[in-house]
Amino acid sequence: MFIEKETGMKTMKNIKLLLVLLALAALPSLTYADHSWNGYHWARTANPFTLKLGNNLTSADWQSMLAQTSQDWNSPDTFGTTSPLLTAIVSGSSSKRRCPMVAGTTQVCNGAYGNNGWLGLASINITGGTHITQGLAKVNDTYFTKPTYNNPNEKLHVMCQEVAHTFGLDHQSTDGSSQDSCMDYFSNTGANAGSALSTKPNAHDFEELNLIYDAHLDSTTTVAAMNALAASASDVTNDPGSWGQLMSQSANGRSSTYEKFHPNGSQTITHVYWTIEAAANCPACDHRYDH
Ligand SMILES: [Zn+2]
Ligand SMILES: [Zn+2]
Repeated sequence: MFIEKETGMKTMKNIKLLLVLLALAALPSLTYADHSWNGYHWARTANPFTLKLGNNLTSADWQSMLAQTSQDWNSPDTFGTTSPLLTAIVSGSSSKRRCPMVAGTTQVCNGAYGNNGWLGLASINITGGTHITQGLAKVNDTYFTKPTYNNPNEKLHVMCQEVAHTFGLDHQSTDGSSQDSCMDYFSNTGANAGSALSTKPNAHDFEELNLIYDAHLDSTTTVAAMNALAASASDVTNDPGSWGQLMSQSANGRSSTYEKFHPNGSQTITHVYWTIEAAANCPACDHRYDH
């Protein structure tokens, strides 16, 4: 009797262990498409909606990258799906170098921003903890004019990622592996300079956009109408000190997130894409101050 009971309990334990293992095995597929940037999203009253991308780019080269990435994000049908967020390129509204944000839009800028370690960055302003009110994406020509980074695949990868952070998307991975999504940290440099891997969104990016924007509709909108452009209230400057506090960083040091709170209660959150060199120098350091 005692022995039978003991055997029965062991069987129960084994079944429980098996269930735990099965649940763990199922996790990766559940979390794979979970790369929302903290649930941040544009408030809007209907899907799909169109986000204006302000073109402040100073070279035909970068303009073609923006055109390509806008087209790629507008092509969910490539994966047999739809997207709640469409993009439209409009004339830029920012003075080019500083690239201040403009309410209801994402402004896109390039410039020789200096040997500050970052290849690209994206900032969004948030109200009420979740609603994106404005965004900006910047790429740094100080590095993109150097042989290591000056190739169409690396440029398109970074452009695609910085623009899409302003949709509310985070990375699919930061360890340098390719998920064949521009929301990863595969490096299209060196031996991989000729690879077009990770230069465009993949099916999981559209899956995530649908998850974010199917969750609810809002009673108001933070997306600017085609002609209504207002000056930005609060944002960050080219001074890295204005980015606020370092909130998180990938283990390899290539990806960092900063957060700054403004007196009006809004916040600006910035994703920074560091160069290979800046990250390798000291992966765990805040790269604003380690070179
Ligand atoms: Zn909302
Ligand atoms: Zn990023």
